[in-house]
Amino acid sequence: MNLPVLTPGVSDTEQTKRLIGNVFSYIVSLLVGIFIIAIISLLVIRNNVNSISDKHDEFLLKKALDIHQENIRSHLKDNAEWGDAYKNLHEKINLNWAWDKQNLGKSLYDNFGYEGVFVLSPEGITRYSVLDGNLRLQDLDSWLGKSTRENLLKEVSNNNGMPVSALTLIDSVPAIVSAAWITADNDSSVIARPGKFSIMVFIEKLTAEKLLAIGDDSGIKNVRVLPDAMRSQAENFVDFPLNINKGVVRIAWESENPGQALIIYFLPLLILSVVLMACMTIVLMRHIMQKARINDEHTFLLDQARLKLITSEKRFRDVSETTSDWLWETDLSLKIIWLSERFSTVTGFDNSEWTGRYLHELFPSRKASFLECISQREASGQFAFKNCPYINSQQSTSYCTLLAKFVVQPDGTVVIRGAATDVTIEVEATKRVQFLSRHDELTGLPNRYQIKEFLAGELNKDEAGHYPFSMICLDLDKFKPVNDVFGHSTGDALLGEVSSRLKGCIRSGDFVARQGGDEFMILLANTSQISQIDDVCQRIVNELNRPFSVNGNDVTIGVSMGIALAPKDSNSANDLLRFADIALYQAKQSDRNKWVYYQQDMSEKLTERRKMESELRAAIKEDQLYLVYQPRFNLKNSKVDAVEALVRWQHPERGNLMPDQFIPLAEETGLIINLSNWVLHKACTDALEKLPGLSVSVNISPVEFQASDLAERVKAILQATGLAPARLEIEVTENVTLSEPEKTSQIMKALKQMGVRILIDDFGTGYASLSYLRKFQFDGLKLDKSFIFSMGDSQQNLSVVEKIIDLGKAYSMEVTAEGVETAEQLNFLKNNKCDEVQGYFIGKPVAISELSLSLAD
Ligand code: C2E
Ligand code: CA
Ligand code: CA
Repeated sequence: MNLPVLTPGVSDTEQTKRLIGNVFSYIVSLLVGIFIIAIISLLVIRNNVNSISDKHDEFLLKKALDIHQENIRSHLKDNAEWGDAYKNLHEKINLNWAWDKQNLGKSLYDNFGYEGVFVLSPEGITRYSVLDGNLRLQDLDSWLGKSTRENLLKEVSNNNGMPVSALTLIDSVPAIVSAAWITADNDSSVIARPGKFSIMVFIEKLTAEKLLAIGDDSGIKNVRVLPDAMRSQAENFVDFPLNINKGVVRIAWESENPGQALIIYFLPLLILSVVLMACMTIVLMRHIMQKARINDEHTFLLDQARLKLITSEKRFRDVSETTSDWLWETDLSLKIIWLSERFSTVTGFDNSEWTGRYLHELFPSRKASFLECISQREASGQFAFKNCPYINSQQSTSYCTLLAKFVVQPDGTVVIRGAATDVTIEVEATKRVQFLSRHDELTGLPNRYQIKEFLAGELNKDEAGHYPFSMICLDLDKFKPVNDVFGHSTGDALLGEVSSRLKGCIRSGDFVARQGGDEFMILLANTSQISQIDDVCQRIVNELNRPFSVNGNDVTIGVSMGIALAPKDSNSANDLLRFADIALYQAKQSDRNKWVYYQQDMSEKLTERRKMESELRAAIKEDQLYLVYQPRFNLKNSKVDAVEALVRWQHPERGNLMPDQFIPLAEETGLIINLSNWVLHKACTDALEKLPGLSVSVNISPVEFQASDLAERVKAILQATGLAPARLEIEVTENVTLSEPEKTSQIMKALKQMGVRILIDDFGTGYASLSYLRKFQFDGLKLDKSFIFSMGDSQQNLSVVEKIIDLGKAYSMEVTAEGVETAEQLNFLKNNKCDEVQGYFIGKPVAISELSLSLAD
């Protein structure tokens, strides 16, 4: 059987309908086939049953006729083999005996139904006959209507006179003819005569009634003679041969037809069962159709769901591939079942390397919390683990935040699914921020905040005060010039180098921090003895005095330190820091490379300094400052043609203060601008009003070149006072060239353009290189008085002064020698072509009114 094939391109519903239609027609064909076979079998069985039944009927009918003939023969024998009959019918015909006495008379017709009773002579001539119960003599053949007699006599004779019988037809009615010799039998009273025997004949017509009766006796219905014309219509018949005459007589009967009964009983059952099967098939088909429709609907829904699933899976895959997170799934023992593609991108590991291993193998530090979370889980519970560290394939630490959820699978098992967000950057940034908030970015050392915190912690440890430790504030000397000259990167590198040398100077348990700029802090724990602190400080000085090699430059710096002791000086972190700072300030004031322990009066000094600052501010406003002038003697024309203005402060309480006592303070506090403005204004006014023809030089602090637009200020003051710019000179130390040389150079250019001259003050004491002489184009240089003072000490010193004068000339600068106190000095300078001298030998700084413009005696 060919199975129906699903046709592509046809909808599922159509296909199912077609399939079911095909199955239906197959079943219907099968049913029809079975029905036809059953009908055919039924007919065959019916025919077989009928034919068996008919054969049986035929047998019974033959038997019945045979018995009937035998009865006639037997009856004939009784009548023929009888001495009386021999005497009364053979020897002679005794009518009285035969007819009247009813020995062979009417009773044979009435009682036995013999239509014909004949007594024939041995030659066959009728001697006595009773026909239809009437005594009437008639030839046998003429009564039978055919020549039967001869054959009959021959048959009897062949049978030695014993009764014979045969079938014949009388007017198409079958009849049994029976004949026998009339003999005396064994009757001793009769003497048999020799010769032939007379013959007794009984003829019985098998009329329709008699045939029916014979049939009824054997249970065969409607036995009848079938006329020749109807022969072809009959179903059941038997042909009896006519023994004496030729031919046959056909006797038919009504078949019992048991097969028909079978059909009558069975056919309705068969039809009923077929109808039932058809109904069942239809019901079944309907059911199947319905099922199929539901199935189709389910298939459709399933297809839809599958499509949705595919879409959703694709979406999930796309999202999981594009997101920076990697996704994972584990069983309840945290064994990894699945990892998304991103896992390998983020961690650098192969997915296969980790599938089958435990999640806490990747995050060993979180094992305990993972397991705890699983043991306490709620069915739909979610959990999150922030910033879990793991070692990635590069062997460095990365972090991720795990978000996970317990999921009950369709088969009832529970798994954990989650996402891991890489937070390495955030964690590191946070750490960096945390680090930076507590550390100095440049050196990586703890910062001021952290040291304060640490200090507070240390101080809180033991209120009883058994915590002797020292706080050292540390400031690098000569750091600023390094930064200015070699640039910030070198400065930064130097700070890094310094911090590592500092770390080498302390023990573990001690603490180094950077406060900012070139200031550091050191906290020494357990320093009960001053000598221990001194040792550390000495080590620091030694270490930092060793030249540094930074970015290819050899640099030398120094260090100053201020020390505060706990608990001696204070128990407060803030105080300790402040005191160490004050001590540092003191150390810086004194010689370099010194460490100074905080003394109580230091803070008093500091307070004093603050006081002085506000006093100076007031002094500038309230004209407590005044100028003295020191003459500058021109050796070429032996004339004083310039003066240097030097500031003094007439302090209301402390009396007359020299510049050393307040200029540094003014520089530090920024008051120097106001102070300088006052000096410039005063000097210009004085020069204009009281020093006709003289130039006036004013000291300007290098700070002012950075902190203000000096050119603008000078211009404004010149305009305000009306002094010719050519009569104003500015003295500035060579350090001015060190920081922001470009800006400085611009300002100088602007001043020179105005016509103001610029002199290098204290030449030879600063740190500048000689190249600045060309770059900045100073108008003159003032050789520092230390060179003049030491001139008398050695020939070498003399020649240094000579060389400097030559150098100044080489750069076309006027050379002034400061601090000339003796005539020898003056003469030497004069001989060596020095342009100008200044000093007590010429004249001390004095009030303008006392200024003597000629050479002192
Ligand atoms: P300076 O510019 O080198 O001024 C010269 C200093 O040497 C003056 O001291 C002066 O009295 C002193 N001096 C002059 N000749 C001799 C001498 O033959 N022998 C000795 N031993 N000393 C001599 P002064 O007035 O105390 O000034 C000190 C410093 O204060 C000045 O050094 C200058 O740098 C600064 N200064 C003075 N006035 C001002 C000012 O108005 N503004 C600024 N920014 N600084 C000023
Ligand atoms: Ca000066
Ligand atoms: Ca000077």
